[in-house]
Amino acid sequence: MNLITKVPKGTKDIIGAESDKTVWLEALLRDTVRPFGYGEVRTPVFEHTELFERGVGDTTDVVTKEMYTFEDKGGRSITLRPEGTAGAVRAFLESGAYAGTLPVRMYYFANCYRYEKPQAGRWREFEQFGVEMFGSKEPYADAEVISIPYRIFEKLGLLESITLNINSIGCPECRQHYQKALYEYFSSHKDKLCETCLTRLDKNPMRIIDCKSPVCSEIAKGAPIMLDYLCDECREHFEKVKKLLTEMGISFEVDPTIVRGLDYYTKTVFEFVSNGIGAQGTVCGGGRYDGLCTQLGGVDMPALGFGMGIGRLLMVLGDYDFGIDNAPAVYIGSIGDEAKAKAMVICDALRASGVSAQCDIMARSVKAQMKYADKVGAKYSVILGEQECADNRAKIKNMSDKTEREISLSNFVNEFKEIYNG
Ligand code: ATP
Ligand code: MG
Repeated sequence: MNLITKVPKGTKDIIGAESDKTVWLEALLRDTVRPFGYGEVRTPVFEHTELFERGVGDTTDVVTKEMYTFEDKGGRSITLRPEGTAGAVRAFLESGAYAGTLPVRMYYFANCYRYEKPQAGRWREFEQFGVEMFGSKEPYADAEVISIPYRIFEKLGLLESITLNINSIGCPECRQHYQKALYEYFSSHKDKLCETCLTRLDKNPMRIIDCKSPVCSEIAKGAPIMLDYLCDECREHFEKVKKLLTEMGISFEVDPTIVRGLDYYTKTVFEFVSNGIGAQGTVCGGGRYDGLCTQLGGVDMPALGFGMGIGRLLMVLGDYDFGIDNAPAVYIGSIGDEAKAKAMVICDALRASGVSAQCDIMARSVKAQMKYADKVGAKYSVILGEQECADNRAKIKNMSDKTEREISLSNFVNEFKEIYNG
């Protein structure tokens, strides 16, 4: 196999129609979050390894198995970001934004890197769209953040195939009691747990619930659930979130088995799961992470957010009609040097005024030029020859109904716009 002509395992080129769809989707996502008051944050693709070890958690799958970590030439341990939140939180703390007006709302598009077994919907490089909101511990913030992906999926007509599942995993205080109950439960199944879960048992038994091994997940089905251990404050918070969602017309299901794969979550956690794309059905996951800012050495700041896999969302969209039209509005064919130059000048003016226009740059025959215009789906076509240049007029043809009319070459842009826009 020739390695130079193959992308690395688990990565892919986004090209042609897929790239058009991605750009379209990114625009829709930006347009959705701007009215909420979100501003974009762009953070480096790599960070100090410690940021993820501390942020994401050193008993998680992501940190123990999936990170792209290397030493740079200066001897620092560097990791390609496996997710977007840790970097966004670091940027929030480093910028001092916490001292300004709260809440702070940030969104990002981030290519993420995880050394995973590639399969449908699971790549080693993938794009995440995410938002983070800092400053509010109130359930209103939870409901607002959850409403964002919900409204996105609604806009895309996906609410029939995507379910919102929510849960609460409490705060460090009530979770302590829960972890103890889990420890007791899983200890009684110690002989059957996988090796990774045995280490999790002592460090963080809640992680066992997220284990993908069939034996462990079967055992996990009988485990105690966090909802039974919530303290009064966490319970009340969860009740309010559910009530607000209901009032906003956002349907959800409570799934007590959601613990999420990253350690930083507290209280509300949620997932949007598609029933149409198989095992990798989680299109969006998120929750509250009130302890993360202090965990990273910063101020005490409640926060929450979500991450959404763009690639998975495209899979869910399947043959959705994106209505993307790359065809030129007009093709200006030409015969002879003078006409070719004229065609270029007119195209230049058309494009400058926002009209997509192409002309011959291949020195093709007129017949071949028209074949090309047809292939690329030009809406109108014109052919310039000696006569047209002398008259300063030409015939413009509507490529779908084949009707023709005259157009002036000196006032082409304006006349074309009138014809084109009807
Ligand atoms: P999963 O359970 O599918 O492994 P996760 O819990 O690891 O997902 P998060 O860390 O919450 O996922 O990331 C948020 C979103 O990013 C996921 O819901 C998914 O849409 C997407 N995502 C995560 N890992 C991958 C991957 N390897 N390839 C493509 N998309 C991914
Ligand atoms: Mg994962």
